[in-house]
Amino acid sequence: MLTIGAFAKACRLSPKALRLYDELELLRPARVDPETGYRYYAVEQLERARLVAWLRRLGMPLARIRQVCALDGPAAGREIRAYWARVEAETAHRRDLAAFLVDHLTGTSGKDTTMLELRYAALSDTGLVRPANQDTAYAGTRVLAVADGFGSAGAHASTAAVEALKILERETHETRDTRDTLSAGNVLNLLDDAVQGATRAVRDIATADKEVGTTLTAMLWTGSQLALVHIGDSRAYLLRDGELFQITHDHTLVQSMVDEGRLTVEEAAAHPQRTLLLKGLTGGDSVPSPDLRLQDALPGDRYLLCSDGLSRVLADPDIERTLASVPDPEEAARTLVAGANDAGGPDNVSCVVADVVEATEV
Ligand code: MN
Repeated sequence: MLTIGAFAKACRLSPKALRLYDELELLRPARVDPETGYRYYAVEQLERARLVAWLRRLGMPLARIRQVCALDGPAAGREIRAYWARVEAETAHRRDLAAFLVDHLTGTSGKDTTMLELRYAALSDTGLVRPANQDTAYAGTRVLAVADGFGSAGAHASTAAVEALKILERETHETRDTRDTLSAGNVLNLLDDAVQGATRAVRDIATADKEVGTTLTAMLWTGSQLALVHIGDSRAYLLRDGELFQITHDHTLVQSMVDEGRLTVEEAAAHPQRTLLLKGLTGGDSVPSPDLRLQDALPGDRYLLCSDGLSRVLADPDIERTLASVPDPEEAARTLVAGANDAGGPDNVSCVVADVVEATEV
């Protein structure tokens, strides 16, 4: 038996930490002297104590450490890997926010003499199976948005979320007329306010049913860049130089399992819970934390926002082929929706296609 002092030294945890872990039942001493209250530890407990110490250094919360310690080696390994994947996802979110600010504060594109504008089309279709359309698609001079509502009042939720974003068209109207670009803090605040507004609007609708909600993938045109806000499993793609890039990350259970190495992409596509969302705008109490991203706009860029009714039915190469071969945004959107319906149209399908073009008016 080791005294608490000797045990602490051997496992590099402080006696104070050991007393706390005892109270939390994370690491009970092998024996407590009934007279003195002194704690004694067995040599065999060192391994677990060292694991606890290293997991603490990793930043893992104590409750999670207790779970890991209860598992056998391989299961504990998987748990640690899953924990770390989540930490990296959170860090990536902050990294994006930092990149957003850096881009905005150092960006020179606003000084470019070429005036750019968007040419756009939005189309939403019920599909061939669903009784109603709960998607909402919108495109305007400043705002592009796709929302995929779910639950009993899903259609109201997606409409309300997009309506709340449309305020950005009006609030930035003057800026557009002077062809000035929006400043950094301005864009973030505008987006933040708009998302808060969308959240309130969804909550008002979802008062009776907390399961009601919507995804929201939207872009705000600043005059030289596109600010993206994204929550849920609708998607944004960029077609640049004939190549298609998915620029959003699905907030779904299966995508997180793919990220954690627990599922392959193929397994995810066939998973029974493949549509289960980890994040969305809902009637629940959780505060939404949408992804934010800033895209530099180049003439010739084409953006696609779509609901999962398109991306689950058409493979990326098919989407790429249509976007690259149909020049008119409206016709491109129509062709994509028709493609989803040709493939059975199992879900509502929505597309926004927007081209970055040189401005025509002076
Ligand atoms: Mn859908």
